[in-house]
Formats: sequence, C-alpha cells, structure tokens
Amino acid sequence: MFGFFKRKKPKAQAPRASAPPAPVPPVPAAPAPMHRSDIALNGARVTVLGLGRSGVAAARLLAREGARVTAIDDNADAATDGLPHDVATLTGGRPEAVAAALAGADLIVLSPGVPRNHPALAAAEAAGVPVIAEVELAWRYLSAPLIAITGSNGKSTVTTWVGHVLQGWKSNVFVGGNLGEPLCEAALAGTGWDFVVAELSSFQLETITSLAPTVAALLNTSPDHLDRYAKVSDYYQAKFRVFEFMTGGHALLNEADASTPLVVEHYLKGAAPVLFNRSRPGDGVALADGVITLTGGGRSHAVCRADELAVTGAQNVENAEATAAICLLAGCPLPTVTARLKTFTGLPHRMQTVAEKHGVRYIDDSKATNPGAVIKALEGAGQVTLLLGGRDKGCDLLSLREHVFLHCPHVIAFGEAAERFRIVLQGHPDASYAETLREAVALAAQKTPQGGQVLLSPACASFDEFKGYAHRGDCFRQYVEALP
Ligand code: ADP
Repeated sequence: MFGFFKRKKPKAQAPRASAPPAPVPPVPAAPAPMHRSDIALNGARVTVLGLGRSGVAAARLLAREGARVTAIDDNADAATDGLPHDVATLTGGRPEAVAAALAGADLIVLSPGVPRNHPALAAAEAAGVPVIAEVELAWRYLSAPLIAITGSNGKSTVTTWVGHVLQGWKSNVFVGGNLGEPLCEAALAGTGWDFVVAELSSFQLETITSLAPTVAALLNTSPDHLDRYAKVSDYYQAKFRVFEFMTGGHALLNEADASTPLVVEHYLKGAAPVLFNRSRPGDGVALADGVITLTGGGRSHAVCRADELAVTGAQNVENAEATAAICLLAGCPLPTVTARLKTFTGLPHRMQTVAEKHGVRYIDDSKATNPGAVIKALEGAGQVTLLLGGRDKGCDLLSLREHVFLHCPHVIAFGEAAERFRIVLQGHPDASYAETLREAVALAAQKTPQGGQVLLSPACASFDEFKGYAHRGDCFRQYVEALP
C-alpha cells in the first residue's frame, strides 16, 4: 500500500495556501532506529526533572540501564511510588538544591509537564548538560517502527484509532505517549513490538534530539498553550520538530491546514509528504461523494463511507482520513483498515452524547480546551446552546466570535474566564454569564427548547473548578442527570 503514496519531491517555490505539495520521489528507506549501544548510561549521573508518570517511567528505564538516577519535582507532594529504591529523590527542594542537582548531572531527562524555561534548567544547559525528553530516551531503546501523531487537536483520537486498526492486523502494538502509558513503558516492557504508536505533544517534541518516526502525522495547527509559549509560532515550531530527524518515511499533513505549505517547504528534510483532507482529487486521502478515498499512482480505492463510521462530526471524518492514511502507510492491508475504521467508538469527553433530557441532547466535549476544537465542533453540530469557560490559556478567544454568532442562539460563559468572554460575545442576542458549570447547565436547560442541543465545548482549561477535563466532563454529566 506504500506505493500509493510514492510521489516526487516538491520543487523549491513559494508555498501557496491552496496549492498541494508537488509529488515526491520514491520513499527512501525508513530510518534505522538508534540502538541502546549508542548511548552509555551505565554509571552516568542522570537527573529526571518532573515526576509524573513519564518521569517515573524514565527513572525506571534509566535505573535498569545502570544510571545513577536522581528524580526531582518542585512539588513536595509529588508521588514517588514506583521508583526503584536506588533512585535518589528531591521533592519540593529549595531552588539552589535543584539547580545543583541539575548542574551536576551528565544528562537531564525532562518530563513533558515541566516547562522548558524552568529556572534551574538554563544554568545546567549553560554548563553544557544535555537535556532530552522522556520520549527521546524511550526512542533510543525501541526498535519497532514508530508512528508519531501530533497536532493541536485530534491527537488522542487518532492515536487510539490507529492503535485500534493496527491491533486488528498485528498482535503486539503499543499505544501511548502523551496519552495513556508513557513511551518509556514501551521500552521497559522489552516486548518485540510490531509498532509503537505515540501521541506526541509540543512539550515532548521540544527536547527530542534524534527521535525519527517511520510515519509522522501533523493533524492540524491552531493556537493553544499560550500560557507556556511566548508566541504561537514557537508552539507551531515545536510541533514541526516531529519531522526534524526523519531521514525517510512519510509525513502526513492536512491539506486544509494553513501550516502545511510552510512545513512542506521548510521542515521536511527526509520524509515524503502525503496529504489527507484533500479538497479535490489527487494523491492522498480525501472525502469524495461521502466516501473516504485513497488515491495514488493514478488509481483510487474506497476505504469506507463516512456515514459508516461509529463516530460523528466533521472532525472525526478528518481523523478517519488521517487514521486510514497512517495505517496504510504502515503497510496495513486495505480490508483491515476498512473493517477496523468502522468499529472505533471514540473517546470520552470528545463530542460524546451523555444524556437526552426533556427532548434536549447534552453533548460533552470537555476536551475542547482551545478555540480550534470548539470551531470544529460547531461546524458540524448545527444549532446549539454553547457552554464556554474555565481557565483561559491565553488563546485568541475572539476567533470564536463569528462561529458562536452563526451556530449558537444561546451561549453561556462560566468560570474564571467568563469575564474574558464578555468582549467576545458583545452584541450576542442571548449571552449569559455563570460562576460555575453547575449554574451554566441549569441556565442551558432553561433556555434550550425541545429538540435542541446543549454543547459543553469550553475552549479553556478546567483547572479553575476541576481536576482536569475528564473531571469537568464527568461533573457535566452529573449536573445534567440531576436536572429536575
Ligand atoms: P488532543 O489529544 O489533540 O487534545 P483529542 O482527540 O483529545 O485531541 O480531542 C481534543 C478536542 O479536539 C476535542 O474537543 C475533540 O472533539 C476535538 N477534535 C478532535 N479531532 C479534531 C480535529 N481533527 N480537528 C479539530 N478538533 C478536533
């Protein structure tokens, strides 16, 4: 199936937003994964910064390889469960102690939860201590082909969907990374994986130094995480790094995404571009007359009809196209792709109908924590009462305005960010403001007529009121169930 995507390399010319990349030559062999002998960890002093699940897995892998490991977390309550006994820990330590532990290391392994601009890192880096991501460490101990999925929205969905399809073909497929199990767990398992399918976030990609997927997908780009990046271009460039070390293989890109021409022109060093979400016939994957269609080498093949998918929404048609392309590029037979694409039922808190009450449908899209996800949700949802709010991440909320005015006869802003939405919603015929999500649900129930829909697609993080997006989604369901 790889043959479908063999195309010529684009000529150097100014990218045009509407122009797909020119064909590329036959695909060079996938990069050989780096082997453990390429790094000498035995006896090395390695400091792991950040003790989430990724940090703990990294510390375990390092300890297995004979490194002298120190694990650090700024939080005094950080869980150290699961760390081997010979790993030294420093939790809630004074800044000088943290700085000393970092500067004295031979290598620093960074968890994705720790910002790159952590104050103690700069001094260690200035002193010449290399810093790598937990996923980079894992990559060096993995020999299976790596399928990497990044983008602003849809990463978890596509990663899980690709895993679901490939598991219908091969028996040993690891699915994890930024969702579920950290990549170091794949390396620790020591299993002969057939494939490693990894969701990679911009934070993880910032500190890769050799990680080279066999297939890498950039699903889309839209502003997010401006609480951690000074500029949106810094965030996008972190995502583009997924292609940085590829010396072969395939780069899957969304034709409709504004970043795609730039990526093709400047960021693909060795990978061959393949497009999905094509708006017109051409090599790659497109929706043609309601059918997800693969085209290559002058021939087209139907993968499946969009209305045969078990998940709904425009975003999931795009996600299905990306999933099909990735799996076919990985060599999965077309009949398996077709069959397994249809049986994926989606992930919780992404456009999930949680209740029908008094003829009103309640949809939980709590994972929509940036405007890009909300815009996509509104595109496919028709008319809805929209619940927006939570903790603002510094995104351009004004980008929501025209979509909200078009699709939402009623809109309710809640939580810490409610005030910021006053400007966005100025002049809206029915915008209300609530302190909490519970109040917002009660208001939505009053306002939404029979046959209508209430959509929680908040465009913000949840931490002002909840432990995370899943907690917010669970509470939404409870508040709806408790409605009189
Ligand atoms: P991520 O892991 O990138 O956050 P998820 O699959 O968890 O992605 O989905 C996050 C949010 O983005 C959800 O609100 C979901 O409905 C929405 N979404 C999923 N796929 C897409 C897409 N292709 N384009 C835009 N939004 C999407």
